Amino acid sequence: MTDRVLVADDLSAAGVEILRLAGLEVDVRTGLAPEALEAIIGDYDAIAVRSATKITASLLEKAHRLRVVGRAGVGIDNVDLEAANRRGVVVMNSPGGSTVTVAELALAMMLALSRHVAQATASTKAGKWEKKRFQGHELAGKTLGVVGIGNIGSVVVDRARAMKMEVVAYDPFISTEAAARLGVEPVSLDGLWQRADVISLHVPLTEQTRNVVNAASIARMKKGVLLVNCARGGLVDEQALADAIASGHVGGAAFDVFEKEPVSPDNPLLKLDRFICTPHIGASTEEAQSAVAVAIAEQLAAYLIRGEVRNAVNVPTMSREALERFGPYLSLCAKLGALAAQLAPTGVREVRVAFAGEVAEAPPRPLTAAVLKGLLSHLESGPVNEVSAPGVARDRGITVHEERVAGHQDFTSLITVSVSGAGAEAVVAGTVFGRRDARIVRVNQFRLEAMPDGNLILCVNDDAPGVVGNVGTLLGAAGVNIARISLSRDEAGAAAASLLNVDSEPPQAVLDGLRALPHVRDVRCIRL
Ligand code: NAD
Repeated sequence: MTDRVLVADDLSAAGVEILRLAGLEVDVRTGLAPEALEAIIGDYDAIAVRSATKITASLLEKAHRLRVVGRAGVGIDNVDLEAANRRGVVVMNSPGGSTVTVAELALAMMLALSRHVAQATASTKAGKWEKKRFQGHELAGKTLGVVGIGNIGSVVVDRARAMKMEVVAYDPFISTEAAARLGVEPVSLDGLWQRADVISLHVPLTEQTRNVVNAASIARMKKGVLLVNCARGGLVDEQALADAIASGHVGGAAFDVFEKEPVSPDNPLLKLDRFICTPHIGASTEEAQSAVAVAIAEQLAAYLIRGEVRNAVNVPTMSREALERFGPYLSLCAKLGALAAQLAPTGVREVRVAFAGEVAEAPPRPLTAAVLKGLLSHLESGPVNEVSAPGVARDRGITVHEERVAGHQDFTSLITVSVSGAGAEAVVAGTVFGRRDARIVRVNQFRLEAMPDGNLILCVNDDAPGVVGNVGTLLGAAGVNIARISLSRDEAGAAAASLLNVDSEPPQAVLDGLRALPHVRDVRCIRL
């Protein structure tokens, strides 16, 4: 069945076209009332929104087919993430599309502040000609302090350097080398407050950044400093800033975002002549709206068609570079989880995932989420995906441990999954040869080499002659073709195992026949 996408908010035409060209069935129905949306949401696999449509818990209750929500833009305040997690719905945004647009607004704010553009416009329109009042400052040669040099901050740095500003920056997550590449001097936050003539904020709102500009930090700033906030409301203590502008310590400020939006007419900043603002229009340009629509359409199509997760806010994902390097390990992890589930004792209580060698450098959470998805898909009756798997594990009382080990003596990279419960344990391990050739290399105490695909038979037997021949003969007689076989015996030499990739699912009677063969201890049929 073709996947169906509902476009519920105005998405630029280029985005809708991409969804259609990808072969998806697309309905554009914007401006629906919540009840009308609830009545039809059950028919869709994906929904694309901007900020108008609210993806509530009650809507998600009725969204039986829904696998993904795509938000064209950055903020996801209109999506109940908690409810989406519970239902295993992936939520994606498209943060990259508006980077230049927001950076340009921040620069417009700096220029407008330093030359009083807004105030001079109002005065001139009021019939005045106040040349003296509006004498300003050049930005060239001044020091810009950028707090947060991620996507937007970096573009601001680039443009500010072109305007011949000196740039100092504070971002604890950026290396000195990356700062040097951008041409900025990394400084401490206090150093930035003290040195900057103009400060521009480009950080997310977190526990660390809430009210990062407050009475104490303002007191450290130069007299006459200009402040720009085109990032998030809540980064600035608005009353403290209003007091500092009123006293003349801060020379002016420009906001696109406020702690409470829409901003209250009583906000003390709005009463100040040296404060200018815009109504959260940072991303509102034609170019950015088209770019975010195209990006979200491409992401939705990639997820629906290939299961590829990009820019998901509720799934631990890898950066593009990490995906290039470690992408094949994601599907290996899901296979190892599924293999472990089929060998696991009943009543799984604990899952351990150990990453050894190069793969230990990968972000572990997406890999562990893939293990849990593979494992729990076999243990749960309902569907489980990367989003819901950690919550399902928690609800079942399964504890999950991750371990990273620097190197491995036999493999460049090795992922070992151990699943235990009721005093028993199953251990499986896998690796990737070359760039994408995944292999199972361990099942419990046996070292083997098998492709993690399709139908497998694991046969454990006494280490005695003739068993493999008997197994081959029986499968051959039943018309089950063996594609690959890997043999192993445990170190004691008491038990042996064979892991067979077979071209078709062996019927139950064949499995029973194998179990009845001399010396055979255990036979498991595995589907990966
Ligand atoms: P980003 O994630 O690319 O960059 C954020 C940077 O902040 C990162 O480099 C991170 O290391 C840094 N950072 C995190 N915590 C920090 C801290 N405590 N101190 C200093 N640096 C810290 O994000 P982005 O795309 O550049 O967006 C930046 C901000 O702009 C976000 O708050 C985003 O929500 C906002 N934004 C606003 C609009 C708008 O309409 N005005 C539109 C888009 C984005």
